[in-house]
Amino acid sequence: MDPWVNFNGEVIPSEKAHVHIYDHGFLYGDGAFDTCRVYGGRVFKLREHIDRLFRSAHALFIPLPYTQQEVEHAVLDLVKRNSVQDGYIRITLTRGVGLGLDPKQFQDDNVPPTLVISTDELALYPEEAYETGLEMVTVSTRVTSPESLDTRIKSLGHYLANIQAKLEANRVGAGEGLMLNTQGYVSEATGDNIFLVREGRIVTPPPAAGILEGITRATVMHLAKTREYQMDEVMLTLVDVYWADECFLTGTAAEVIPVVRVDGRTIGDGKSGPVTKDLIQAFRELTRTEGVVEC
Ligand code: PMP
Repeated sequence: MDPWVNFNGEVIPSEKAHVHIYDHGFLYGDGAFDTCRVYGGRVFKLREHIDRLFRSAHALFIPLPYTQQEVEHAVLDLVKRNSVQDGYIRITLTRGVGLGLDPKQFQDDNVPPTLVISTDELALYPEEAYETGLEMVTVSTRVTSPESLDTRIKSLGHYLANIQAKLEANRVGAGEGLMLNTQGYVSEATGDNIFLVREGRIVTPPPAAGILEGITRATVMHLAKTREYQMDEVMLTLVDVYWADECFLTGTAAEVIPVVRVDGRTIGDGKSGPVTKDLIQAFRELTRTEGVVEC
């Protein structure tokens, strides 16, 4: 059956949901989005994802005629209607419908934003990738500099750089692309945050390195601290990556996944390391025990 979507507050079959040709998200990438994951019918970290969406909207000056709680309710309602047990939720927000770049017309005419909530199946990495690990290459496309667009905003438009980066990684058959910032420091993978382990200490780039402040990243940092690992946010260069004992990525879709080769260099002994394994297990346990069904 065709899944339901929530289109500007109305729940309709997805085949009937059509975005206007002059939607500012479609015309200019003028909007924000967030994605969450459903485990066993429960939405993991729902509040955090909706909160990030609202913070993105606030930074982009897209006023929302809904409260955070209303959007949370709408997400949970859709998960129930579509009987999602394990899957993916996408919440896409744009400035609304209007031709022309200038957002002033939206404010003057009180143009409502476009908000679409949809659910889908997840395209996951094969289970063996969590054992054998990914190969990653550094790409030439840099993350957007805060001089133009802060990567902490999960904006639609800046993902063009990530798509270019992914194209580069695909071209050489790598599972992921590592992006640097304009100063040459390690930032993040195309859709995931990066962590390194060296001599038992876990490090990850700080927000100032040009990252999205991943919700999985925050969860893993918390898990690492409660498990008494030394956990620090530090600026990293590629040499830190090459010299790491372990490397892993975190993201809503990927969860926690090892990286065993970067730019042809073997990381550690080329296998998923003990800290990575421990955190993969801890994260999975959390997804089985936490999550929202109603608010
Ligand atoms: N960085 C980028 C660029 C992303 O798109 C994402 C989300 N897929 C992440 C990091 C990870 O964020 P989260 O853990 O909130 O999914």
